Amino acid sequence: MLPGRREGQREVLIVNNCRRYQRICILVAILTALTAFCGCQSRLISRSQEIQLGQDAGDDFEHKYGRDHDPARNALVNSIGANLERAAEPPDYPYDYRILASNQPNAVAFPGGRIYIFRGMIKALEDDQDKIAWVLGHETTHVAHQHAVHRIERQLGYEAIIALIFKKKSAARIAGTVGSLMLLDYGRDNEFEADREGMLYAHNAGYDPTAAVAVLELFQEIQSREPNDFEIMFATHPGNKDRINHARGYLEKMGWSGAYYTP
Ligand SMILES: [Zn+2]
Repeated sequence: MLPGRREGQREVLIVNNCRRYQRICILVAILTALTAFCGCQSRLISRSQEIQLGQDAGDDFEHKYGRDHDPARNALVNSIGANLERAAEPPDYPYDYRILASNQPNAVAFPGGRIYIFRGMIKALEDDQDKIAWVLGHETTHVAHQHAVHRIERQLGYEAIIALIFKKKSAARIAGTVGSLMLLDYGRDNEFEADREGMLYAHNAGYDPTAAVAVLELFQEIQSREPNDFEIMFATHPGNKDRINHARGYLEKMGWSGAYYTP
């Protein structure tokens, strides 16, 4: 009797797995049809899934680097973040600005509002509020304009969506992949857009937007001094010279001048 029951259990398991596989196939077929019909892959991931995915991937990313708990640095970043959140559009993401205990001069945005600035970036910017505000404004734009989630939809497609829906083992692997994806640039147009909007958000939040020029000049200087360090973080972004010219052009167009640049 016992062997018979085990046999029966195995059959039930096989049937369940087949049904599960069928469900996934049907889901993929529906998504494929929808994509073909729409001619795009945008907004396959819902807003709540986007936030959840960003938080899961952010937790995984944070685990690798560790958090910086310096009270003064955290107070500085939290206050700049709160001001930027009020200035950002659309305002309905739960923005969460955190510092990572890494000396790399970097910053990264995750879908749904999790934004990390590395301790090395804050040090390179010498705790300057206006400069930090522009860097965080740039990252905030990647979230607000959904650059981050669109990349996941483009690169991971249904794999991410299925992981989100079924929330099983694959979710952890997806979180790691998302973390690696977020370290890459978003392409020339999106990066220029983030540079411009970063200045706009910083300005609307009460900071000097001309700090963008000073930060980009610093990036250029670091790149020529320590090309290897910088390569990882910024080599894929548009050239710093182009970004400096673009930022100056935007400041001139907006008629903004400040402590760091006068058109
Ligand atoms: Zn960027």
